[in-house]
Amino acid sequence: MRWSFRGDDGQDLAVDRRKHMVEQQIRQRGIVDERVLKAMETVPREAFMPHDMQDLAYADGAMPIGRGQTISQPFVVAAMTEALQLEPGMRILEVGTGSGYQAAVLSEMGAEVYTIEFIPDLAREARARMEQLGYEHLHYMCGDGNLGWPEEAPFDGIIVTAAPPVLPGALGEQLKPGGRLVIPVGRVEQDLRVYRKNDDGSLERHTLFAVRFVPLVSQG
Ligand code: SAH
Repeated sequence: MRWSFRGDDGQDLAVDRRKHMVEQQIRQRGIVDERVLKAMETVPREAFMPHDMQDLAYADGAMPIGRGQTISQPFVVAAMTEALQLEPGMRILEVGTGSGYQAAVLSEMGAEVYTIEFIPDLAREARARMEQLGYEHLHYMCGDGNLGWPEEAPFDGIIVTAAPPVLPGALGEQLKPGGRLVIPVGRVEQDLRVYRKNDDGSLERHTLFAVRFVPLVSQG
């Protein structure tokens, strides 16, 4: 298998690196949802990195994945996933497929994932990678995530992994009552926000912490 790091004895070194990542970078910083920790211990993050960078797959930071885009820091992926409070079978919209890593974590947790990517090459590569790795229950779209995915709405949860200056209205509309929307909002540095939709359709929000994501491209 091309993506595993093999030790002299043929052991998959990535397993240890993943355990270490989960303990040091994620659990110790306060992520408690065991299902998130388990999923991140399982998904082979190195498979989502460019070949010449796979050694950095378990480093404690965001990494470039080509075309000016990044794969998020493991801790940020964990915190955003935990904030969604997802249950198996939930239908989750992700905006910003990128490498597909976040989508793989959601899929590993049993979500039905609808993921939108703006850059055709990235969308194509992510899909090929996910299929090769055997992830199921994923639906891919190449297009503008500001508009959400109206044909498949409403969603039980929405996660946005690129930053708009303000919350795109369509995303709030496409969330089910009781659902959560996790999104970085701001221009250079952003607030990572969690919106929860009330039964009357209003949105309540709280802020987790400051983050730096690439901008959510807007054609409007
Ligand atoms: N979730 C990704 C990281 C995403 S980086 C991962 O796990 O690897 C942000 C991604 O959002 C980039 O791939 C970028 O091309 C994409 N993007 C930016 N603007 C977008 C838009 N309007 N609609 C959909 N995707 C967008």
